[in-house]
Amino acid sequence: MRRKLAAGNWKMNGTTADLAELSAMADAAVRGDAEVLICPPATLISAAKSAATEIAIGGQDCHAQSAGAHTGDLAAGMLSDAGASHVILGHSERRADHDEHDDDVRAKCRAAWDAGLVAVVCVGETLAEREAQNTLDIIGGQMAGSIPDGATGHNTVIAYEPVWAIGTGKVPTTDQIGDVHDFIRARLERRFGAGVGRSVRLLYGGSVKAGNAADIFAVSNVDGALVGGASLKAADFVPIIEALN
Ligand code: 13P
Repeated sequence: MRRKLAAGNWKMNGTTADLAELSAMADAAVRGDAEVLICPPATLISAAKSAATEIAIGGQDCHAQSAGAHTGDLAAGMLSDAGASHVILGHSERRADHDEHDDDVRAKCRAAWDAGLVAVVCVGETLAEREAQNTLDIIGGQMAGSIPDGATGHNTVIAYEPVWAIGTGKVPTTDQIGDVHDFIRARLERRFGAGVGRSVRLLYGGSVKAGNAADIFAVSNVDGALVGGASLKAADFVPIIEALN
């Protein structure tokens, strides 16, 4: 059985004052069976872990190398040292803003595993790619390129985030989400074998809110969500956590 996962990506939002939101999220984590993960800006990882030990804390990116002359970058081991257990990799905003490609994501994923972190690898098509009916080709290519050999249900989570659904209020139909998640599952089983392929958790991300979470979580092969805007406030995120239980 795959444990459900409610993950929040705070992106470039949050200062110490916002850590107050974590206590109600931690209460919801204790009440239910789902795992709760918050990925705040790296400046808050250490304080977030201290503030809410019941919640897993993650980074939003890491460097592919473990140390060196890379001003402004963070190694996976540093995230782990600060209290992170997970790291988001290959988010479409990183791919767009920092020109990250699949081979960069793959190298970062290895670095994350070496540091003992769970990699939350993001894949997703643009609107143009969906309209050209290339969605599954794009997702398959991103998976092949971004996920190294050696993925398991313990070290890897995959987040399907259609670029056009992020921060837009537009959400794919449940059929569209199901088609992509079933495809991702089949690809994982083909590449890593049925046991490993079935153990990797698949999250949906893109405009998940309290009002649509239950419908999305009812879709086959959806094991949780990677939530942006609605993860910043406990009032928005707690109902999403509860919808997983
Ligand atoms: P929103 O939930 O704000 O659409 O963001 C989704 C996302 O990008 C999570 O990584």
